[in-house]
Amino acid sequence: NVRVQISPYLGEPTRPRGAVIVCHDVTELRRLEQIRTEFVGNVSHELRTPLTSIKGFVETLLDGAAEIPEHRERFLKIIQTETLRLQRLIDDLLTLSRIENRRGESETSLSSIQEAYEKIKPVIESYAEAKGLELIVNIPPDLPPVEMGIDLLSQVLLNLLENAVKYTNQGKIWLSVSYENSFVHLEFGDTGCGIPEHDLPRIFERFYRVDKARSREQGGTGLGLSIVKHIVEGSKGRIKVASRLGSGSVFSCDLPAVQQGELD
Ligand code: ADP
Repeated sequence: NVRVQISPYLGEPTRPRGAVIVCHDVTELRRLEQIRTEFVGNVSHELRTPLTSIKGFVETLLDGAAEIPEHRERFLKIIQTETLRLQRLIDDLLTLSRIENRRGESETSLSSIQEAYEKIKPVIESYAEAKGLELIVNIPPDLPPVEMGIDLLSQVLLNLLENAVKYTNQGKIWLSVSYENSFVHLEFGDTGCGIPEHDLPRIFERFYRVDKARSREQGGTGLGLSIVKHIVEGSKGRIKVASRLGSGSVFSCDLPAVQQGELD
């Protein structure tokens, strides 16, 4: 994709002496425009689905279903579920946009993995317990801090552990942390449904879901992993996944550590 601009090159005093041709390579620009258009389309679709459902059930209730107690109860429950879904979607979209705007700024805050985990521990423990899953957390006491705000770090831990619970029906989920070669290494594992090999390269994309119905049923927005990837890469970290269909998944995340000497 090339955009061409031609302008006359004026000689003395105003007689054209030639032409200047400027060629801009706009391939990248077009690609970004296309991603943006697709994103807006996806967002509209994701917002419209719960809204249509809410609108439909409200109308049905107003048309008389509210008179029948069982119908009233059932339809109000659906409206509540769909409203929560809209709320989660909007929260995730705002998180994503906040993280994108942060790009390029230098992140100066330091956080400890243990502290970030403490923030989300009650939520994850209750999710795991509700599904009868064993939760194993191993965070060594003498880890150096990582260069990331505490809220972002907690969000990474929450999204990955929440996914581990969501996509695991039996067995265990774990978070195992270690330190090596100036990186803090976090491993989030589960004995869940796993991810088909051909889906693995795409699961960090916005709104990409292996099984849309399952994700929806679990209250997923399809944005969790793209938020994680943005946060991790924005802090010069790396994230990758290994998975086997039917036996489980392991998400590995390396975050640059800050040494004591660097702080002085
Ligand atoms: P969602 O809100 O749908 O969970 P995510 O962006 O967090 O969205 O994840 C994208 C998709 O990746 C999920 O829909 C699911 O198909 C797959 N996935 C993520 N984590 C796991 C996991 N631990 N086990 C199996 N599949 C997973």
